[in-house]
Amino acid sequence: MPNSYLNTHPDEKGYFGKFGGSYIPPILEQPFADITKAYNELKNSPEFIKELKYVRKHYQGRPTPISFAKNLTEHCGGAKIYLKREDLNHTGAHKLNHCMAEVILAKHIGKTKVIAETGAGQHGVALATAAAYFGLECEIHMGEVDIAKEHPNVVKMKILGAKVIPVAHGNRTLKEAVDSAFDSYVPQADHAIYCIGSVVGPHPFPMMVRDFQSVIGFEAKEQFFEHEDNLPDNIVACVGGGSNAMGIFSAFIEDEKVNLYGVEPMGVGSMMGQHAATLTFGTEGVMHGFNSIMLKDENGEPAPVYSIGSGIDYPSVGPEQAYLKDIGRTKVGLCNDVEAVDAFYKLSQLEGIIPALESAHAVAYAMKLAKTLGKDKTILVNLSGRGEKDIDFIVDNHPIPNVKF
Ligand SMILES: *Cc1c(COP(=O)(O)O)cnc(C)c1O
Repeated sequence: MPNSYLNTHPDEKGYFGKFGGSYIPPILEQPFADITKAYNELKNSPEFIKELKYVRKHYQGRPTPISFAKNLTEHCGGAKIYLKREDLNHTGAHKLNHCMAEVILAKHIGKTKVIAETGAGQHGVALATAAAYFGLECEIHMGEVDIAKEHPNVVKMKILGAKVIPVAHGNRTLKEAVDSAFDSYVPQADHAIYCIGSVVGPHPFPMMVRDFQSVIGFEAKEQFFEHEDNLPDNIVACVGGGSNAMGIFSAFIEDEKVNLYGVEPMGVGSMMGQHAATLTFGTEGVMHGFNSIMLKDENGEPAPVYSIGSGIDYPSVGPEQAYLKDIGRTKVGLCNDVEAVDAFYKLSQLEGIIPALESAHAVAYAMKLAKTLGKDKTILVNLSGRGEKDIDFIVDNHPIPNVKF
C-alpha cells in the first residue's frame, strides 16, 4: 500500500487502536487464519495485482470519473461540490471493488462457493456478479423487509444464478442477515468463503475490504488535481459499515488539511429504533466478531435500527471508522430521511444523476456543508451508488406532489 498509515493500520492482530480484532468461535479460527495468510501473500503478488487491474479496467468500468456538480453548487451558493462517481461501477455501486477481489482470493485458496449477507441488495448483486464471472457458487442471505423493499436487486441476484435465502427473524434486516450468513458459513467453511459486505467483521476483513476499496481514494486524489490542481478541502461519504467512506478516506488520511466527514443516518428521530447513527449514539461493544462502537438496547444486545437507506441501517460500524473518529481524524455528520429524499430529487433534477438513497445522505450533508463555506472551498462527495434500486420505493412512498408516476 502506497502510504504508511495503511501499512501500519491495523496491527498484526487486526486492531485499530482498541477497535477491531477477531472474536470468533474456535471452529472458525483456522479458516480465518487461512484467509489472512492468503491475503498477506496475495496482496503483493504481481499476478494478483495484474488480474485485479485487468478486471477493474476491462470489466468493471474503472477508473470512475469525478464530476463537478455545477448546478448543485450554484443552488447551494457556497463551496464547489464534486462527485466521485462510484455509481458508474458495473452493478451500480462501489461494492464490486471488493467483491471482484474477494472472489479472486477465494479462487486462489481453492474455494468453490461464496456466502454473504446483503442489506439493500447491492452487495448481494455485486458478489453474485463476481461469482458468475469467476465461476463460483453464490449464496446470499437477506432480511425479508429488505427483500420487499429492494425487489429489483432480489430478481437480479436470482438471474445471476445466486441462491437467495430470506431471513425471517428479529428486525428482518441487515443485522439478522449477517447472523444468518455466519451460521450457514460455519459448516461449509471447508469449501466456502464468507465475503463480508463492508469494512466490518473479524480480522482480516476490515483491512482487506478497506485495501480493496482504497482504489476509490487513490484514483480520486489524482483526478481531483486535474480539476482543481489541489487536494479537496473536504471529503464527504455516507457510513453504514464504512467501506465506501474508508475507500475514499484511505488515500487522504495523512493529508491532515483535508477534512473527512462520515455521514450517518438519523432516520426519523433520535430514539432507539428510529435511526442508525452508530458513531453518534453508540458505545463500545463486540458484535459480529469485532470490537467497535455499537448501538445497544437495554440488555446490551444490538439495538433495532432504521434508515430509509437499506444499505446503511447497521447497529455497528467498521472498527477503523470508530478509531479514526476516536483520534479526531474524521468528523461525523448526520442526515435524516427527509433530507436524504430531498437530496435524492435535487441531484436527479439539477445534475441528471439519480443517487442511491444511501449516497443521498452524503449529498445532503455536502449541501448543508457547502452553504456554510466560501466559494473558494471544495467538497468531494463519494457518490457510492446509483438509485435505480430505490425508484419503486421512492415513487410509492415519497412521490413528487402533482406528478403522476
Ligand atoms: C452498501 C452501500 C452503502 C453502505 O455501505 P458502506 O460499507 O458504509 O459503504 C452505501 N452506499 C451504497 C450505494 C451501498 O450499496
